[in-house]
Amino acid sequence: MKNVVCFDVGGTFIKYAIINSDGKILLKDKFPTPRYNCKVSIPEEMMKIIENLRGQFSIDSVGICTAGLVDSKNGVVTVAYNFHEYSGARLAETIEQKTGLRTFVENDVNAAALGEMWIGAAKGESTFVCIALGTGVGGAIVINGNVFGGVSGAAGEIGHIIVNQQGEQCSCGSKGCYERYSSTSAFIRDYVNSAAKLGIKVDEAEINGEKIMMLVKSGDSLAVEVYKRFVDNIATGIVSITHLLDPGLIVVGGGISAQGKTFFEDLNSSFRERVISSYASHTKIVQAQLGNDAGIYGACYIAL
Ligand SMILES: [Zn+2]
Repeated sequence: MKNVVCFDVGGTFIKYAIINSDGKILLKDKFPTPRYNCKVSIPEEMMKIIENLRGQFSIDSVGICTAGLVDSKNGVVTVAYNFHEYSGARLAETIEQKTGLRTFVENDVNAAALGEMWIGAAKGESTFVCIALGTGVGGAIVINGNVFGGVSGAAGEIGHIIVNQQGEQCSCGSKGCYERYSSTSAFIRDYVNSAAKLGIKVDEAEINGEKIMMLVKSGDSLAVEVYKRFVDNIATGIVSITHLLDPGLIVVGGGISAQGKTFFEDLNSSFRERVISSYASHTKIVQAQLGNDAGIYGACYIAL
């Protein structure tokens, strides 16, 4: 049995865990993400945790998943927005030199996909696509058991597939990207704007995806209309991904996916209405199973 120290670096917290080679979490905790000089401060905080855990467990290796673009071959965070001085962090090298433990680094969405393949919704599958619907839309492509990174390791930016040339401005600089219509933020924005058109004022600080879903369940006609549009928007992107890759399985995670069965029935039916019929029978869209732990499981998997 091997024990891996796993980290999941997010913008607010860094989660960590010890996971063994059976996929059992032996310990789990988190600490606030350092706010400054992250290139140095993040690996330093990690090493403190590792040294502390080494007193209690036998540790074989370290797995890290992190926000940002990652050169997983060299264990380097190449570009990371929303962090102070994090781009260029040589996480694997720094931690290996100081601790003597082999260290592996992967992008967070890719890691989540591998976690789902190891012990989650894609268990037993080797080719599938993972989509994370949150503030933005993240994606990971897994082909024959490996994350497909493209030429530079940046493949899978599903959120920035352009679905409307004349569409809304996106943070990436383009217009009409998929995440402008299919993220949880897009769902909320559409609801607020559609309500405003009807002269209904919605307190933006008060509303969230869950509350809109409660309105949908209660039969509120505006919420139902916005929800249907949202599901169709998500399905449209999955149709394009299917026509391009024919992955057979699409695992969807993130806030809205917690809505469970009804949401996935709606999504699958909207998908089947739009996809070329020959794909429909062998393509399934399913809910991610590991929730917020997908990243640390994936971090463990890459280290193992
Ligand atoms: Zn974009």
